[in-house]
Amino acid sequence: MMTAKPLIEVQDLVKYYPVQGGIIPHTVAEVQAVDGVSFTVYEGETLGLVGESGCGKTTVGRTMLRLETPTGGEVRFEGANIFDLKGPALKALRREMQIVFQDPFASLDPRLPIGESIGEGLAIHGMGNGRERYERVIEALSRVGLERYHATRYPHEFSGGQRQRIGIARALVMNPRFIVLDEPVSALDVSIQAEVLNILKDLQRNMGLTYLFVAHNLAVVEHISDRVAVMYLGKIVEVTTRAALFRKPLHPYTQALLSAIPMPDPTLKRDRVILKGDVPSPLNPPKGCRFHPRCPIAEERCSVEEPALRELESGHQVACHFAERFL
Ligand code: SF4
Repeated sequence: MMTAKPLIEVQDLVKYYPVQGGIIPHTVAEVQAVDGVSFTVYEGETLGLVGESGCGKTTVGRTMLRLETPTGGEVRFEGANIFDLKGPALKALRREMQIVFQDPFASLDPRLPIGESIGEGLAIHGMGNGRERYERVIEALSRVGLERYHATRYPHEFSGGQRQRIGIARALVMNPRFIVLDEPVSALDVSIQAEVLNILKDLQRNMGLTYLFVAHNLAVVEHISDRVAVMYLGKIVEVTTRAALFRKPLHPYTQALLSAIPMPDPTLKRDRVILKGDVPSPLNPPKGCRFHPRCPIAEERCSVEEPALRELESGHQVACHFAERFL
């Protein structure tokens, strides 16, 4: 459930990656992965962050955990800029913010029993003695529906869905408050996806967790998000509640993403919006509105003037010059 208390505030976040070139290597260009992104995550909610691959959503998630250094902007956790923290305050923050990756297998050491991988963070942070750490690992396993005996098994002995549960247990064992879920179900079969999403929802309810759920597909975030932010080429183009986004999307890009989701009832049909071309390169994003080369309703103004993210209805922000047309 969404509460009004902000847990994390992202303000004007910018992340550029330099591209080296020349005989004497120097920066010849910059990949503008994230360019002036601002949003708030409220305590206890799930904010879905959605966009096509390369739109910068994973970079936003990683920067919020201080896994990347931003080129500009701030991330505030309960009011404190996380990039100013040092020593014990930074260590405490690292415990409170965790991440679950799309491919948990890649982040598990194949030579270690999974109990040891799950307990690694506890050991690094010097939390408890060996016995206490083991008990916390068992508790985390049981929270994701796995058994005590699984702790001694190796990653290759688990199915894809079980490995993702292990990835979640690894984050949970630290007793975090905020978790970035980076495409946590994208590699799983649809039936297993539902199982993992249900576990995540139960954990949130029971442990009061706050999630940023990163996904490339609106269908996945529909069942878990309280609010959704849509990104396109390094910018947020729309943010609102899940209900408003699915009922009345105001940005042409969101409308196109939504039109691609099959309706559960085959007698109902959405008009499919087919976008022209591919996502342009973040090395050289289009001027004005970055979406204008693909936008079905673009006008001349769109190629010269960048639209600001503005609130059109309470809690519903859109970056489009002509979004009023869809109100
Ligand atoms: Fe389309 Fe123009 Fe709106 Fe951008 S500002 S989404 S190009 S109508």
